[in-house]
Amino acid sequence: MTRSVTVSVPAKVNVQLAVGGVRPDGFHDLANVFLAVGLHDRVTATPSDTLRITVEGPDADQVPADRTNLAARAAELLGARYGIAPDVHLHIAKRIPVAGGMAGGSADGAGALVACDALWGTGASREELLALCAELGSDVPFSLVGGAALGRGRGEVLTPLEAGGTFHWVFAVADGGLSTPAVYRECDRLREAAYAERAGAGASGGASTEHVPDPEPSPALLDALAEGDVVALASAVTAAGGTSNDLQAAAVSLRPSLTGTLEAGAKAGALASIVSGSGPTCAFLAQDGAAAAALAEALLASGTCRTAIPAPSPAPGATIV
Ligand code: ATP
Repeated sequence: MTRSVTVSVPAKVNVQLAVGGVRPDGFHDLANVFLAVGLHDRVTATPSDTLRITVEGPDADQVPADRTNLAARAAELLGARYGIAPDVHLHIAKRIPVAGGMAGGSADGAGALVACDALWGTGASREELLALCAELGSDVPFSLVGGAALGRGRGEVLTPLEAGGTFHWVFAVADGGLSTPAVYRECDRLREAAYAERAGAGASGGASTEHVPDPEPSPALLDALAEGDVVALASAVTAAGGTSNDLQAAAVSLRPSLTGTLEAGAKAGALASIVSGSGPTCAFLAQDGAAAAALAEALLASGTCRTAIPAPSPAPGATIV
């Protein structure tokens, strides 16, 4: 009998995404408050003659089935570390929107790592798996641990956070994705333009670490999370008339139709409306599960999104099922 291992792995929403200035190496320091949400991909690893990827789900045709898939890279990385040929069939049952700002690729990377680790019996420690995740990408370590966490550095240096209750969300999925690097570039471009307007035409460097404050987590937001206080969390997410997501303006600039989606959610009674990470998925906070179900229906009826999915948080990280 051929043994196989299936791992369920959650999507994430950034309750806060504070983005520092662009560093000389092109990256940005972040203060990233992650929450894992109950919307999952499943990765199944089965022994095979060669490394093979298959994908099922509504967006399957947008997911690379070659070795650029993060799940394939995870198998290769783990195999190389333990001297094991990565001859494995990885089947991804994809529910997390692709290129949607919900770390779907990262989820599959973490899921494949845990699945192959169990299939091959490598006995890697949690620390080793986390280090491999960080090599795969900034959001991958969080997909492994789940729950709630603060990510510093590029998002991969994690500190677990307390979440004192269940928060109910609705995710409005857009048609087509947004490239995360393109959204960061747009964020830099908007900062440059705003700086030039303040400092005079020709002034440059406005997106650099010199001119952008260091990213810090919001104390009010962390308190609301710890207390499980959804109303306080909603007001921390939309503090000072803006949002806690520094990439939101850039995502909206690249995809102006998101304004309509955010407004539709607010009109339908969402306690807070934000772009999820680099977008284009929009995330809406609801009072409870029943309010989330009603909000999802209203968003779908508004015609401003392809689909609207209610999901609670926090959710556990990558788990063998
Ligand atoms: P993040 O929120 O981490 O910035 P995202 O959710 O916006 O990411 P992903 O769904 O991770 O975006 O996909 C980004 C790109 O990564 C896709 O367009 C695709 O080309 C590539 N990719 C590689 N592996 C996968 C995978 N397993 N699932 C989805 N996309 C993948």
